[in-house]
Order: sequence, then C-alpha cells, then structure tokens
Amino acid sequence: MCIFCKIVNGEIPSKKVYEDDKVLAILDLSQAEKGHTLVIPKAHFDTMLDADSQTVSHAFEVASKLANKIKTNLNADGINILNNSYEAAGQTVMHMHIHIIPRYKNDDLKIEFTDHSSLYNLDDVLAEINK
Ligand code: 5GP
Ligand code: ZN
Repeated sequence: MCIFCKIVNGEIPSKKVYEDDKVLAILDLSQAEKGHTLVIPKAHFDTMLDADSQTVSHAFEVASKLANKIKTNLNADGINILNNSYEAAGQTVMHMHIHIIPRYKNDDLKIEFTDHSSLYNLDDVLAEINK
C-alpha cells in the first residue's frame, strides 16, 4: 500500500486540514511555505491523469475552497495550486495529490518558467497537440 493510502486509512498519522468521503487534505510535511497543504483523493490513482474526471473535479473544487480559507486565515499574499504528474514533472509520491502553497511577499520559494519560445514554432506545436 502506498504512503498516502496509509495516511488515508490512518496507518500513518497526519495533520488533517479537511476531510469528506472522497478526499483528505493534510499539511505537507515539508511546509515549502507556511500552510502548504495537500489535497489527496481517498481512492488510489497513481497520477492525476489516471483519475476519473469526477475525482479530479472534486479534488480541485476542494483545493480552490481551501486555498481561499488558507489565504484569508494565514494572511497569505498569494497561492500556488499545482499538481505534479509523473516523475519527470517532479512527482515523488505516486498517489494523485494537489499542492496548495500559500505565498508571502518576499518569500524565498522559486517556481520559475524559463522562456523557451525561440525553440518552437507555435503553429507546429498547436498542430502536434491537435493531431
Ligand atoms: P510530489 O513531489 O509528489 O508532488 O509531492 C509529494 C509531497 O508529499 C512532498 O511535498 C512531500 O513533502 C510530501 N510528503 C511525503 N511524505 C509525506 C508524509 O508522510 N506525510 C505528509 N504530510 N507529507 C508527505
Ligand atoms: Zn495510494
């Protein structure tokens, strides 16, 4: 059984932020920023791309509501909501989860996008996506 399934069924303790019959939200051990929370579907899906659309919708709806609550109550200045799917995208726990990361002015977390637009022709990329 995976580590998040063990958390969901109570074998491993966690700090519970929210729970309903479909999802569990807990504080991330790493606390990349204060209040860093994970929304975890109770059913096991290796990645978000394996999950059915109802599970994905509900998990993101909960993430959105919790993001508002966390931003207000922790006086955050912004929020990153992100999902890593597959190892190449930074996924380390192979059970779907959504990160809610509160952001504070002048915090030191780096989530950066490098501009690689010179490498690609956008029409070619579009055609490839829609082939
Ligand atoms: P990923 O890199 O897969 O998107 O994120 C996995 C996250 O799970 C990491 O941020 C890591 O800190 C967190 N994590 C790993 N093991 C545990 C655990 O046992 N309990 C909690 N609360 N978080 C964990
Ligand atoms: Zn699992």
